[in-house]
Amino acid sequence: MASLFDLLLPSCCLFCSKLSARICNDCSGECGLDPRLVFRDGLVGFSASSYTDQAKQLLRSFKELGESSLGAFLAERMKPLLTCFDEPPTCLVPVPSNALSLRERGFNPAEIIARELCRSLNGISYQNLLARTRQTKDQSRLSPGQRAENQLNSMMAKVGCERVILIDDVITTGSTLKTASKTLENSGHKVIGFLTFAETESKGCILTTQAKSPDDGGTSWN
Ligand SMILES: [Zn+2]
Repeated sequence: MASLFDLLLPSCCLFCSKLSARICNDCSGECGLDPRLVFRDGLVGFSASSYTDQAKQLLRSFKELGESSLGAFLAERMKPLLTCFDEPPTCLVPVPSNALSLRERGFNPAEIIARELCRSLNGISYQNLLARTRQTKDQSRLSPGQRAENQLNSMMAKVGCERVILIDDVITTGSTLKTASKTLENSGHKVIGFLTFAETESKGCILTTQAKSPDDGGTSWN
C-alpha cells in the first residue's frame, strides 16, 4: 500500500531527481547490486550491497525519513540472495527495533523488508519470534566492544524449532545479529544465517557469478 508520502508528492527519483518512479531505471541499475558473502565471528550471511553513498541515502530515506515504501526495492535486491543459503528456511525473522526507535519511526525497518521478501515466497512467512527486553543505545556512536555489550541479553525469543534466516537492513560489527542468533538458538531454533541490504564495514567476499540480478532470484533451493 502506498504511504502518505507517496500520495502527497509527485514522484521523482530519489537519486537524480528526475520525474519518474521513486528510483528511476538508470539509477536502479546501479544500486544494491553488489552482493557479498559476509562473515562476522561465526555468523554467516549475505548482503546485497556495500555501504555506498546511494545505499546510505536509500536507507536514510527508508528508515529516518519514513519512506517505508522503499522497503520493496530493498527486498527486491536482497531476494536473489535467499537461494545462496545451503538449505531453505521455514521462516524469516526480522531483527526487532528497540522501543524508542519503533516509537519514533512508527515501523520496524527489518520487519518491512521481511514482509516484502515473503510476498512471493511460497510457503515461507516472516515471524516476529524476537522481542527486545530492554532499551539499547544508538549503536552508531559506540565502539565495537561497546556495541556487543549494548546488545548483550537485550532480546527474548518465542520457543520453537524453526529454521531461520535473520533479516536486517544493515550489518556493521554483527553484534545485533549475533545477539539475535544466540537468543533464537537458546530457544530451540536453528539459525541458517542472515540477510541484510548493506554491509557497512566492507569485509565481505564479493559474489561475482551468482545472484547479481533480481531476475536471477529463484527460490527453489534445488
Ligand atoms: Zn534516477
